[in-house]
Amino acid sequence: MTVQALKKASVSFDSARKDAAHFIDGAFTNGSTGRFWENRTPLDNSVIGRVPEGGKAEIDAAVRAAKAALSGPWGRMTVTERTDILARVADGINARLEEFLAAECLDTGKPSSLARHLDIPRGAANFKMFADTVKTVSTETFILPTPDGRNAINYGLRKPKGVIAVISPWNLPLLLMTWKVGPALACGNTVVVKPSEETPLTATLLGEVMNAAGMPKGVYNVVHGFGPNSAGEFLTQHPLVNGITFTGETRTGEAIMRQAALGIRQVSFELGGKNPALVFADADLDKTIEGVMRSCFSNCGQVCLGTERVYVERPIFDAFVARLKAGAESLKLGRPEDPVTNLGPLVSKEHREKVLSYYRKAAAEGATVVTGGGVPTMPADLADGAWIEPTIWTGLPDDSPIVNEEIFGPCCHIRPFDDEEEAVRLANSTPYGLAASVWTENLSRGHRVAAQMDVGICWVNSWFLRDLRTAFGGAKQSGIGREGGLHSLEFYTELTNVCVKL
Ligand code: NAD
Repeated sequence: MTVQALKKASVSFDSARKDAAHFIDGAFTNGSTGRFWENRTPLDNSVIGRVPEGGKAEIDAAVRAAKAALSGPWGRMTVTERTDILARVADGINARLEEFLAAECLDTGKPSSLARHLDIPRGAANFKMFADTVKTVSTETFILPTPDGRNAINYGLRKPKGVIAVISPWNLPLLLMTWKVGPALACGNTVVVKPSEETPLTATLLGEVMNAAGMPKGVYNVVHGFGPNSAGEFLTQHPLVNGITFTGETRTGEAIMRQAALGIRQVSFELGGKNPALVFADADLDKTIEGVMRSCFSNCGQVCLGTERVYVERPIFDAFVARLKAGAESLKLGRPEDPVTNLGPLVSKEHREKVLSYYRKAAAEGATVVTGGGVPTMPADLADGAWIEPTIWTGLPDDSPIVNEEIFGPCCHIRPFDDEEEAVRLANSTPYGLAASVWTENLSRGHRVAAQMDVGICWVNSWFLRDLRTAFGGAKQSGIGREGGLHSLEFYTELTNVCVKL
């Protein structure tokens, strides 16, 4: 069955309710397993539509279509022809913004004010930016003097790596999936995407945009399913896959790395985090509260770069806690389309159970619950959703699981510190190393502290300020490799050095 066409005009959340389908070799299909699951919205637990589960046959068909497309029209295109198509894909997403928005908000429950400014436009920008990058990239050359008094010239030739498996999570579904698909296609690869089972809609909708943009068959493929013993595992184990790019939990990364060892496939991993914010007494408190509020509570705390540990210099500790509490208590939970809503539900009731287990653990460990700590009372029509209270704790020991494990909910623990050295030590004290933010009006200190953070990304007096040309990725257990701008070429191309004796 094909995906129902969505009504272009006046897209409402109800008109976006639909079944998902695999997209293989340019066509929508339910595949042959006969297995489906119900996709439910975390807003009220109602059914959005059903999703087919792909098995080995669907993965094999998608990977073979992707492999064949490498030597079809796609593989023969000039860079300009290829990037023209990618520009049309970006335009196609923007032209159907309302449909993408409704699909993403139904799948995740997030406020449409957030998805309208972040998820969907960034999904489009990921195609444009990487198309621009490959159009202007130069190659390295070296002249080597040779013993006969002449020279040899070396130059690097970048070629597509081949078939790229893209495994993506549910927190920013379109944005994070296109962050991989954009550079993969710009570099001339083909892809098979396994979106999160929680959020299948926008990856499916993108198939329609690909066809409308004139993307050759087999270049972009989507197979739905789960991880272990399902589409995710079958995809990463398929022998014709040349590289695996994955965003998700660190534990899943370990499993995928084992799967990638078969046939020595390269991996690019963007994994979990337990990101600190360091607030010094000389920080501009208004600016800092605004930034830390966003970093703790945006997208209901389900942002890999989000803050779950806040360290505040002792003289301003009480004032900071009081202001963050007031900020958290002013957040408006509600339906995505309500313009005052700035906090949606968690992605699912299952995830809420995980987050609530940490809320209970914090209370059991004797934390001071500054605000929140439970499930809010919602209006009757939303009562069955995955809603949760934004929560702030103080008073936990440094070795508490609340302070060391990724919770991925709208919560943070705040702890005082007395000097810069202590702040740096505390910030670096977990096995994760994704991101950090430093808040101070002393820019020398900002640079000095940023340089000591064991992370892939450190912001000073800001958070989530992203220049897509910069390196993105995690240190320690938060990832392997860097993507973004030219860095993406390292993973998505194979570099051949050509040495010519002159
Ligand atoms: P997850 O690891 O549970 O799932 C991610 C994807 O992996 C899903 O599509 C899932 O089906 C698939 N998967 C699971 N097991 C698999 C297996 N054995 N083989 C192949 N595929 C498998 O992650 P999630 O819960 O969807 O997302 C939240 C996590 O993602 C958090 O840990 C968050 O920090 C992380 N994340 C990291 C970044 C980053 O850039 N570093 C960005 C966003 C999210």
